[in-house]
Amino acid sequence: MTIANPLNGFVNKRPQDQYRGRFAPSPSGPLHFGSLIAALASYCQAKHANGQWLVRIEDIDPPREQPGADKSILNTLETFGLYWDEPVLYQSQQHQLYLDTLAYLEDQGLSYGCHCTRASIKKIGGIYQGHCRHLQLKGDNLATRLVNVHPFPEFQDKVQGLVSQPDDLAKEDFAIFRRDGLFAYQLAVVVDDIYQGITEVVRGCDLLQPTCRQMTLYATLNISPPQYAHVPLAITEQGYKLSKQNGAPAIDKHRPQELLHLALTFLGQRPPTALLSASVDELIHYAVTHWDLASIPSDQEIIYPASPVSDNDNT
Ligand code: GLU
Ligand code: ZN
Repeated sequence: MTIANPLNGFVNKRPQDQYRGRFAPSPSGPLHFGSLIAALASYCQAKHANGQWLVRIEDIDPPREQPGADKSILNTLETFGLYWDEPVLYQSQQHQLYLDTLAYLEDQGLSYGCHCTRASIKKIGGIYQGHCRHLQLKGDNLATRLVNVHPFPEFQDKVQGLVSQPDDLAKEDFAIFRRDGLFAYQLAVVVDDIYQGITEVVRGCDLLQPTCRQMTLYATLNISPPQYAHVPLAITEQGYKLSKQNGAPAIDKHRPQELLHLALTFLGQRPPTALLSASVDELIHYAVTHWDLASIPSDQEIIYPASPVSDNDNT
């Protein structure tokens, strides 16, 4: 074992008492109402703590990307008054650090090559059983799996409370490099959250289960994880994420106030109706000042549009 942990250099590089949050969209399409909710929540939480808010474009899966989607997302964020504090980080610029991290884990004997297909894993019940752990496979067309020595069956979330997942899932040797030659999301997100010194992750509940795996990776790398706060996901009915096709208000850049107001209401904040005629910057300023994480519903999913319940009509 000769390789030093390439991520150690980024730990403690930043002041301990500074909050650093982020929004990390994949450029697979324009920003929609569902992702506006995550962007707004992470922004308000960071700014309410006088922190920095960063944007990272997660472009590690080219087949799923749409040309120009990054520019369109960034443009929409600006229209909605959500300005980032440091240059945007693109995951496509981070490959060397991912490779270095993979090399480090391999050197530690904490990863191995795997040739199992999705279909063969499905046949044994959908959870990988460590089939290739001792086969010492080398060559192309292999995934890389992490030797899972730190299973996390549960973690504490600042909105959802104690989140658990089944034991066998927590113990799975999950992939950190894909058989199709792409870096796995779990690896990239952890490496970059460390690289950017992120202290708290605020995002949608679609990423609740992967969080346990990310905690496993932090423990394996011997680096302490950020805090997590997962906000409810807007869905149309059980199991269906909100999207433009199924009734999400399309992001209409001509009425940012209205959509911001809707998003804040969705997040359990109670913005006064009068804000609809304020400027975008005024509305955001109000949202940050009055931001209250404890008011966010601790549901994982909320059907949208839910009939707005209001006992305090601020008109
Ligand atoms: N890029 C991921 C997505 O758009 C989000 C990653 C994260 O927030 O950790 O779903
Ligand atoms: Zn295998």
